[in-house]
Formats: sequence, structure tokens, C-alpha cells
Amino acid sequence: MILSDFLVLNDTGLYCAVGDFYLDPQQPVLRAVLSHAHGDHAVRNNSSVYCTAATARIMELRYKKNAAEQFWIHPFNQSFELGGVKITFIPAGHILGSAQVLMEYRDVRYLYTGDYKLQADATCEPIEFAEADVLITETTFADPLVQHPDPVTEIQKLNSNVHNVLLGAYSLGKAQRLISLISQHCPERKILVHFGILPINLIYEQFGFKPGKYEPYNRKLMKQPGMGYVYIVPPMTFDSYFRAKNVMRAFASGWKQLQRHNDFELLISDHVDWNDILQMIRMVKPQEIWTIHGDGRHLKKHFEDQIPIKILNRC
Ligand SMILES: [Zn+2]
Ligand SMILES: [Zn+2]
Repeated sequence: MILSDFLVLNDTGLYCAVGDFYLDPQQPVLRAVLSHAHGDHAVRNNSSVYCTAATARIMELRYKKNAAEQFWIHPFNQSFELGGVKITFIPAGHILGSAQVLMEYRDVRYLYTGDYKLQADATCEPIEFAEADVLITETTFADPLVQHPDPVTEIQKLNSNVHNVLLGAYSLGKAQRLISLISQHCPERKILVHFGILPINLIYEQFGFKPGKYEPYNRKLMKQPGMGYVYIVPPMTFDSYFRAKNVMRAFASGWKQLQRHNDFELLISDHVDWNDILQMIRMVKPQEIWTIHGDGRHLKKHFEDQIPIKILNRC
């Protein structure tokens, strides 16, 4: 029997009372099971953190001594017990080390997706599908109007000219995916990387996911116009360069509103769009769907009378 209160969302985050742990808590807790290392899922100063090796490594880079009191590292597809709940990490295809969290309790399977994507990405473990009775899914882009274009077609926009490009991207995950896409599909382009992104690239390399060919940023190179450089920078740096001359500006994101004011659109997302969420649901075959992050109302309407949908968050 599905327990309707197996997971409840409180001010600290998504709490599993039977196992006494939180999933991706927003404030430090005693026992945190973390899906991946993005800051909105992995906060510093938890006591015990249960996660994949790459997630722990990235948190140590970013949070240093405050990363956690203790990490309990678990490889993908190897179950462990936490407070009577059997837990298994399954690749989520979102960024390096990102995991779906499968929780089994009294013969019922609850699958928390964390962030995930189905699109190909050479810089992280590809998503794997597991069946579950309850699917707890993120709904960041769960809107029939959101359909991400093909990332290869998007990145090939860089082949239409040789202007230097200032390319904004999140440092963890998106930057490495862009290096990989440009290396594969834009052979004339040369990639420069902001110094803040370099240590994350190093971790990707250590885990066997070499993003591609790039050089650390060099001011002199970027000053030469029309040399075909693509300079990848984190969002803060991107915003501070709004007056940069002789470069075209683009920001790689699934959010349309982040594309405004830029010289061209680059709609590349590490989240599922509407069709990919539906595909995920076909693969997981859940009896119930619970939604979190974003707006679950479109899904609720779409599956009316077919699959009960519970919206956990206030959207
Ligand atoms: Zn994320
Ligand atoms: Zn997220």
C-alpha cells in the first residue's frame, strides 16, 4: 500500500519520516540524501550526507570544510539501508554524479527524480530508467508549451560566423556540456574558460568525463576580433560584461526569459521538457505522481482520470 505521507514537504525540505532523512534539504539536517551537487539541492553543513562520489567531490570543492560532517558515498545501482528504507541511486543524466533516489519500503517503490534529462550528454552518466509505484518528479519545465530544441542544432549556430562570443553558463554541468558540444560540432571554434570553471572541469576529468579541448581565459586572445573564440563564463561574470565590445553575447539555458537582450538564443537545458517528462512517465509506469519544483498543474490536468497527481510544493 502506498503511504500518502511517505514524503512530506516542510520548511526544511522533503522529509521521509519512516527513514528519518531528508531529500535535498534546503537547510542543514542530521541525515541528508542528496540527488546532485547544484546549490539548490545540496546545502553545506549537513551532518551525514548520503550521495554519489562525484556529488561529494564537487561539494568538497565548493564548501571546503563545511561540505558535511560525514559523507556516505554510494555507487549507482548499489542499494543501502537508511532507517529501514532501502535506497538505490540511479543515474539521472542531469550533471556529473546526478542521481535519482529509489526508495523501497514495505514492497512499495518510491522514485525521486531530483533534476534529470533524457537528451544525450557526453559529460555525465546517461539516465537509466526504473519502474516505480510512485514517481516524485521535478516539474521545472512541465508545460506543453516548453519543448527544448535539439542541442546540436542550437550549438551549430556558432558555425554561422567567426565573431568572438561571450557565452554565459552555469559553472557546474552546463559549462562542461557546452565545451563538449562545441568541441564536437564547431571544429573552427576555440574555447576559452573562465578560471572559476576550471576546477570543476578537473573533477569531470578525474571521473572520466573529459569535456573537450579548451584553454584558460586569456585577455589578449579575446581582444583580437573575429578569431572565433568562445569564452565561457559563469552568470555573474556574464552580467558584468554587458558593455563588452566586439563580441556577441549568448546565454545557454532552457529559460526563454534569459535569452532576451542577447545577440542570439541558445536554448540548451539540462532539465526535461514536456515531451521528455511524458516519456519518463511511460518508462516508470507509476500508479501515482507527486510533483515538486516548478508547476505541476499542467501534468495534473493532462493525466486527469488516468493517474492521480499530487502537487507537493506551492507553485
Ligand atoms: Zn540541478
Ligand atoms: Zn534543481
